[in-house]
Amino acid sequence: MQTLAIIKPDAIASGKAGAILKHLQEAGFTLRAARLVRLTLPQAEAFYGVHKGRPFFPELVAFMTSGPCMPMALVRADAVAHLRTVIGATDPAEAAPGTIRKLYAESKGRNAIHASDSDENAAREIAFFFTEGELAGLVG
Ligand code: UDP
Ligand code: MG
Repeated sequence: MQTLAIIKPDAIASGKAGAILKHLQEAGFTLRAARLVRLTLPQAEAFYGVHKGRPFFPELVAFMTSGPCMPMALVRADAVAHLRTVIGATDPAEAAPGTIRKLYAESKGRNAIHASDSDENAAREIAFFFTEGELAGLVG
C-alpha cells in the first residue's frame, strides 16, 4: 500500500523538512521516491483540480507555487488512512497533539504537509509526480 505526501513550501522554507521526514519514518513509512520541485501555476491548479471554484483555491495555488515543495511516495500497511492520522486535521488548531500539522503547521492554509485521501487519489497523485521508472524496484 502506498500514498503521496508533499512537504509544502512553508515547511521547506522554515527548515522543517528533515524533522517531518523523520516523523514519517518513525511512523513506519518507507520512502519509495522523493524530489524537490517548484510547481508551476498550471501544475498546482491541476494537482488541486478537485478544489477549483472553492474560495481558498487562488490562495492555495499561490502558496503551493511560492517555493519548492517535496513530494514523496510512501509505503506502509494501510498507508492512506495511517498517513491521514499521522498528519492530523487540515487546520493545525484542530489537529490532535503529536500530529505533524499540530507540530509543524503555521495555519489552515500553510499547513506543512499534503496527504492523499483515498487509494484512487494516491495512485493518481503518485503518477502526477513520479514515472514508473522512478518508482520501480526500490521498495517491494
Ligand atoms: N485549504 C485552505 N482553507 C480551507 C480548506 C483548505 O487553505 O478552508 C487548503 C489547505 O492547504 C489544505 C488544502 O487547501 O491542506 C486542501 O484542502 P483539503 O480540504 O483537501 O485538506 P487536506 O486534505 O489537505 O487536509
Ligand atoms: Mg485533501
